[in-house]
Amino acid sequence: GGDFAQKIDYVFKVVLVGDSAVGKSQLLARFARNEFSLESKATIGVEFQTKTLIIDHKTVKAQIWDTAGQERYRAVTSAYYRGAVGAMLVYDMTKRQSFDHMSRWLEELRAHADKNIIIMLIGNKCDLGTLRAVPTEDAQEFAERENLYFMETSALQATNVESAFMTVLSELYRVIS
Ligand code: GDP
Ligand code: MG
Repeated sequence: GGDFAQKIDYVFKVVLVGDSAVGKSQLLARFARNEFSLESKATIGVEFQTKTLIIDHKTVKAQIWDTAGQERYRAVTSAYYRGAVGAMLVYDMTKRQSFDHMSRWLEELRAHADKNIIIMLIGNKCDLGTLRAVPTEDAQEFAERENLYFMETSALQATNVESAFMTVLSELYRVIS
């Protein structure tokens, strides 16, 4: 009903990028609905979810886009990136290759998204610490060189997921306010 319609002060489009199976959809499910599934299906069709937050007494709507199972190189269309002001660049810390691909995802992102985009590098699946294939220092070094935020997360255990999204959203808010 209109009576309780919320006034939205800002809408921020944030995109999830990275190889297939790194946990993008589960990070989004955890952040948007506090859900997690071990039998996550490849996302079909372009999909986004929204989460409305209050930052500094203002209503901020995060519109978070998830890839439609198009994670092969250059298969993600430019429409996906268009208007994105934030991005979560996700690798699986147990899969070295998914980290090695970060530079090409970053290149694609920078070619298509807003030039002042705020980017968070995410090493997901930190609950599988014994299988780690990417040292924290390697990711930190890459993040510093490329001017990205960096966190290790677990969508499964809800570690740092809220914090990773909130860092990007607060920074977006800070920049425009
Ligand atoms: P996407 O292809 O990048 O969207 O990856 P999904 O979100 O579909 O996740 C791929 C698989 O990894 C699924 O079986 C998930 O349940 C699993 N997964 C996602 N995040 C985590 C995590 O933090 N820890 C663990 N152990 N598994 C995860
Ligand atoms: Mg997915």
